[in-house]
Amino acid sequence: MNQRLIAGKSITEWKADHPLLEQIIETEEVWWANPNYTDFSEVIDKLSLELKDVEEAEARLKRFGPYLSHVFPETRPSKGIIESPVVNISDFKKKLERISGQELLGELLLKCDNQLPIAGSIKARGGIYEVLKHAEELAIEEGLLSLDDDYSILATDKFKEFFSKYSIVVGSTGNLGLSIGIMSAKIGFKVTVHMSIDAKEWKKKLLREQGVEVVEHTADYNQAVEEGRKQAEADAKSYFVDDEQSVDLFLGYAVAALRLKEQLAAMDLEVSSEQPLFVYLPCGVGGGPGGIAFGLKLLFQDNVHCFFVEPTHSPCMLLGLLTGQHNRVSVQDFGLDNRTAADGLAVGRASAFVGQMIEELLSGIYTIEDQKLYILLSYLFELEGIGLEPSAAAGLVGPVRLLNEKAGREYLKDNNLLAKLEDAIHIPWATGGSMLPSQVMEDYYQHGCQLRREL
Ligand SMILES: *Cc1c(COP(=O)(O)O)cnc(C)c1O
Repeated sequence: MNQRLIAGKSITEWKADHPLLEQIIETEEVWWANPNYTDFSEVIDKLSLELKDVEEAEARLKRFGPYLSHVFPETRPSKGIIESPVVNISDFKKKLERISGQELLGELLLKCDNQLPIAGSIKARGGIYEVLKHAEELAIEEGLLSLDDDYSILATDKFKEFFSKYSIVVGSTGNLGLSIGIMSAKIGFKVTVHMSIDAKEWKKKLLREQGVEVVEHTADYNQAVEEGRKQAEADAKSYFVDDEQSVDLFLGYAVAALRLKEQLAAMDLEVSSEQPLFVYLPCGVGGGPGGIAFGLKLLFQDNVHCFFVEPTHSPCMLLGLLTGQHNRVSVQDFGLDNRTAADGLAVGRASAFVGQMIEELLSGIYTIEDQKLYILLSYLFELEGIGLEPSAAAGLVGPVRLLNEKAGREYLKDNNLLAKLEDAIHIPWATGGSMLPSQVMEDYYQHGCQLRREL
């Protein structure tokens, strides 16, 4: 039989090397324990970024605090710092225990990036950071700004006029476009967002209302990114936010770890070998979850255990890491369609930059069916009053899957964690949702309730 080759091997050969591929290709839910997971101390020196880089990003965001609190009044209470709460979800926890039949020891907390100001998703971290960094560099180069200025001057007409000579371009499945679009338009840049086929209508409409140019593509995310890259290359005053390779996006996301450490301390929780932290991060191209996992590893090292979650139809990071081929393979290569209700995760080819950064830091990846996302978001909405988009619900089931899956339990055993579960902290990362129009949220909720009845 003459089989098409994927990164040099036939599907049969790939499956022989990695039997889990059988289930992945059948879009069954899987749990993958990362065989390359390594002690932090052996990994850190090999990486191109370090804690200092994350702290620099945090300092830059602080400089922009006065500007942000000026132009986005919703950030005034936090002095222009874009951050989200961590909350206890004990009612949801009880429900999860009941529907899974699995007792959950330890704390279950939700990191509510769905409530991040300005863009309502995790993209408000990396996306806004990168736009601000670019603006700062341009203004400093022009001699208009110095590092110790009060950055609220950036809101004046002089700066808006200056920035209007420059443009920003990005490709997105929706939320990165929202974040980059809203921030760029506010500071004065011309901005174009190339949206993939997955992008929701309301996200495009909202952006157009803000004066953002939205280009709609009938192709998927990686193609939308390609189109954006081409457009930006043709214009010297144009800056392309490269979701597949950007170090700045990654660092902007990583700042979340510094903030989370403070938030846990304020709740009297200190991550340690006796009190391990487990985080469950929904993954698209990888930058958001990768940056956050990287930041958390810098702070908590072997006491934090990071898991990514992907839809069964778009497990691009899983395929990239499992095959070791990163962006040389796509979900389509393995016959998957990359169609998922989790629009924020509808990515067919993962970032190689992120894959390489995390390949020894990540504990594992699990995949989840779309229907479960609706069910989970419906329970969370009903019991905790928190509204999430489907992508953002993917981490909610992580603690249960960790305990119920054979490979999950083995991970716990191999890392001497079984005896520590009573004191463990589990944090599903809720990555988006507060900007959903209420009717869309209601439809998601109703759909989840319908699926619950059919179970
Ligand atoms: C973008 C996104 C993610 C994943 O981030 P990546 O950087 O693409 O991996 C998760 N959830 C939501 C809601 C998102 O918009």
